[in-house]
Amino acid sequence: MKHIFEINHPSLKSWVDIPSDSHFPIQNIPFGIFKTNQSSPRVGTRIGDFVLDLLKVAEADYFSDIQISKDVFNQSFLNDFMACGKKITNAVRLRISELLQDETKYDLQKYAENFLIPIEKVELLMPVKVGDYTDFYSSEEHATNVGTMFRDPENALLPNWKHLPVAYHGRASSIVVSDTPIYRPYGQTLPDSSKSPIYGASRLVDFELEMAFIIGKNNPSGHQVSTADAEEFIFGFVLFNDWSARDIQKWEYVPLGPFLAKNFASSISPWVVTLEALEPFRTESPTQNPTVLPYLQYEGMKNFDISLEVQLQPQKSENQTICQSNSKYLYWNINQQLAHHTVNGCNIQVGDMCASGTISGSSADSFGSMLELTWKGSKPLKMSDGSERKFLQDFDTVTMIGYAEKNGIKVGFGEVKGQILPSPKK
Ligand code: MN
Repeated sequence: MKHIFEINHPSLKSWVDIPSDSHFPIQNIPFGIFKTNQSSPRVGTRIGDFVLDLLKVAEADYFSDIQISKDVFNQSFLNDFMACGKKITNAVRLRISELLQDETKYDLQKYAENFLIPIEKVELLMPVKVGDYTDFYSSEEHATNVGTMFRDPENALLPNWKHLPVAYHGRASSIVVSDTPIYRPYGQTLPDSSKSPIYGASRLVDFELEMAFIIGKNNPSGHQVSTADAEEFIFGFVLFNDWSARDIQKWEYVPLGPFLAKNFASSISPWVVTLEALEPFRTESPTQNPTVLPYLQYEGMKNFDISLEVQLQPQKSENQTICQSNSKYLYWNINQQLAHHTVNGCNIQVGDMCASGTISGSSADSFGSMLELTWKGSKPLKMSDGSERKFLQDFDTVTMIGYAEKNGIKVGFGEVKGQILPSPKK
């Protein structure tokens, strides 16, 4: 059998016609859940502008020499597939590559119309049943910006920040797939001029540009995951928009952190890009100073060079790019995040999701939230229809796009998109 990383080679070509700027060339092979008018939810992969129906591929016995049940593909979530372990899931990914390669001994191309569905004919569903959800705070630039705005520019980072990857536990069941509408939250806020709080719709709804990794292997309580072993437990990544209500957040967050400002919704991209597909895009992490404790030290390149972009589209206006960032800016990498998460013996389970925290760069056009881009509303963004934005208005659509690129090959996530709607509440 070929080595799993050979299928990342930029020279590989597919017999499927793939647009040159596609996020989904044969080097990607992400996993997701889809349905059509004719078929129930099931596991698929994406190649160019098509979804490959992996239940049908399994039923046609193309995976018959891999120790995996066909039933694993006939599911509404990827959890059972991920739980098979990397040895199996990597073998499936390798086989899919072989099935789709230009020069192949397999005959799937002859029956292509039975297996490939044009992307416009499928509905993409939530890929994972999320068990537990953790949101880190791992971008130094973001934490510095927020600390500067809300506390003290001289001491923007709290004393713990460079010693441990700060995080909070969020709400798993309100994580939704791209294209799900987001209702403006109601809640309590304390207006600047007021001594007592008021109730009403949040006026400061925001996005947060993040990525999230998904756990593909259980670890029992009492057992730590080391930085060296962390990647065994990480199946892959999605784009993550952590919708936030800044006015609610400001009033509620002391002393226990975010609650209703965050738990109304987070959106993810539908395709889970595997850690293995991102292998060619590894890059150095930022230098950590002061030196971290031994359990947070690591070897090798643990950050990923993934270009990230946020677009904002007011209703009846053009979509425009308002932020360009990169996941390589993260101060704390995923190995450190997972090692810290489990250092106390906290268990992890297949389907758990860990988001990075807002990923901001150092320049003002790389900030990953409206809060930072408009500097708390003091520098509104100018939209092409002549309007201004301090925070999100009803019917605004936010789209996040992410991809890695090298040697002319893009390995991408597609997008995560969501529109803000007025709350149905009174
Ligand atoms: Mn967040």
